[in-house]
Amino acid sequence: MRNLLAAVAAVVSIAGLVVIGGTSTAGAAPVCAVDYKLNQWANGFTANVTVTNQSAPVTSWKLTWTFPGNQSVTSGWSADVKQSGAVVTASNMPWNGTLGTGASAQFGFQATYSGTNAVPTDFAFNGVSCSGDGPTTTTTSTTTTTSTTTSTTTTTTTTDNPPVGCGSAAVCDDFEQQNGSTPSGRWTVGAANCTGQGTVSVDSSVAHSGRKSVRVNGGSGYCNHIFFGTPVSGSSTLHGRFYVRHTTALPASHVTFMAMKDSADGGRDLRMGGQNSALQWNRESDDATLPEQSPAGVAKSKPLPTGQWNCVQFTVDPAGRLSTSLNGAVVEGLVADGVATPDVDRQWLAKTGWRPAVTDLRLGWESYGDGANTLWYDDVAIGSSPIAC
Ligand code: CA
Repeated sequence: MRNLLAAVAAVVSIAGLVVIGGTSTAGAAPVCAVDYKLNQWANGFTANVTVTNQSAPVTSWKLTWTFPGNQSVTSGWSADVKQSGAVVTASNMPWNGTLGTGASAQFGFQATYSGTNAVPTDFAFNGVSCSGDGPTTTTTSTTTTTSTTTSTTTTTTTTDNPPVGCGSAAVCDDFEQQNGSTPSGRWTVGAANCTGQGTVSVDSSVAHSGRKSVRVNGGSGYCNHIFFGTPVSGSSTLHGRFYVRHTTALPASHVTFMAMKDSADGGRDLRMGGQNSALQWNRESDDATLPEQSPAGVAKSKPLPTGQWNCVQFTVDPAGRLSTSLNGAVVEGLVADGVATPDVDRQWLAKTGWRPAVTDLRLGWESYGDGANTLWYDDVAIGSSPIAC
């Protein structure tokens, strides 16, 4: 009995773990169970939600709830998460709508809040309350906001510090909540073609913030492409900020370390990487580069320093303008301002009518010839306003 009690204590001590609808003392059995895990900081949080269908099989689902406070969803993953007032509706994606009896789906979201981040208590699955038949249902609700340690189990640690400088951005990730060997939740690992020997892993040995980052082992030669990516909304001006650390100077040949699928450009990628040992943008659809790869153009760009964390900030606007800063300073050769400048954006602007609408952000490594590299990424943010280093 002593061991059993210890085990129970360990379970409820997991930071931010909430289980709702687990026990019903009378009335109808709950149609669903919801596991709502929080990682929160001063004014924001992410929630990883597991919903289990305890009723008849379904081919689509909506999980709804009401925020008790001023929580406001900024982005979601593995479900379409929409908020109207305090009411949130999470609808299945095309690939996770079918849930047999007892089957579960997982999704997540990021949100802001102020004051108390109270946990919702009115979860409903396809319109039916997850609490069973009214007030006779027992609800177990446990929230802790500090790290806990027990002698019986590995603990989950909340993120008490916000990811650096991006509390209200739609995507804001310091990877501290990643407990697996590869990034999960909002992140998907892979490449559309030729992943070869490229690998992505969560790394606890090097970090810009906290204890964790994402490590990319990028191979040389074509067909070692590897990325970890997340959907983004690209209908308006997009501001990005990430930290990257790498081991090997950018090569003479063309490489990519960030790619964004441009739905307005045939689904081809808008890419940031290097060529002639300096940073560049590259547009997959026509292979245009920013800056032009003339000696004068390359001289207006910068190398990406090795062996240190570098802050990369960028802006992509729907009119087709780009700007880029490295470690807080605008890089002249990485600015497309809409007015053709020889050696900088003349070639880039030669493709008229380019109006980017990017739908994802992928970080990793894509070599087209020479150039192997090991890279770490941390404190990745995407938002609708500039995000500081
Ligand atoms: Ca980190």
